[in-house]
Amino acid sequence: MDGCRVVGVETSLGTFRATKIIDAAGGNHWLAQQLGLEIQYHSPRLIAYYGYVTGECSARDIAPAIVADSCGWTWTAKVRCLQRATPTQLYQWTRLSFGTQKIPKDWLPNEFLGLKIFQRMRASDVSWRIVSQSAGSGYFIVGDAAMILDPTSSHGVLKAIMSGIWVSHSIASEFVGNLTEL
Ligand SMILES: Cc1cc2nc3c(=O)[nH]c(=O)nc-3n(C[C@H](O)[C@H](O)[C@H](O)COP(=O)(O)OP(=O)(O)OC[C@H]3O[C@@H](n4cnc5c(N)ncnc54)[C@H](O)[C@@H]3O)c2cc1C
Repeated sequence: MDGCRVVGVETSLGTFRATKIIDAAGGNHWLAQQLGLEIQYHSPRLIAYYGYVTGECSARDIAPAIVADSCGWTWTAKVRCLQRATPTQLYQWTRLSFGTQKIPKDWLPNEFLGLKIFQRMRASDVSWRIVSQSAGSGYFIVGDAAMILDPTSSHGVLKAIMSGIWVSHSIASEFVGNLTEL
């Protein structure tokens, strides 16, 4: 920092100074935490559990599915065919349960029971939230680092790309004198 201005990043590879710093480091909100920016929450706490399995589930080879129940929703999809002597499919699942209830660490959707676990279950905080000030003196925050909706929005990747494009336009406009920072 130089006063209130962000002027660089300190990393394990050294210190890098820059006219603009862009935080695209995802939902841990690295820069917002560093700057003490408020993060506004707009949903109850939502945790998405997800994992990968291999094997055969013909229903998912045709189309993905998102199925709601009284406690939440489950998303299942085929990712790709693994290239092996005997073809086997790679599938992904995501489960979001409303409330604070955790799911067992070996949980699988019914349709994937009996398939081989390819990657152990992980969890991600997908509570709806937004950083109060995603641009300021010397910095921009983009993608999940700036705001998050749970995966049913299905636009997280698009929003990350679009906010990155918008920020690069803004920086370019400032450099050619068409925009001022404050
Ligand atoms: C289970 C689940 C399912 C989802 N499904 C969909 C979907 O179907 N469609 C969709 O559009 N979105 C989906 N999303 C949301 C989507 O994944 C995110 O919105 C999107 O990946 C955000 O992109 P990003 O580049 O902002 O952040 P990220 O993809 O999180 O990328 C941040 C990168 O920064 C790196 N990083 C973090 N800290 C540091 C550091 N200190 N130094 C250097 N690098 C660092 C991380 O390793 C990571 O590579 C899903 C999310 C979850 C959890």
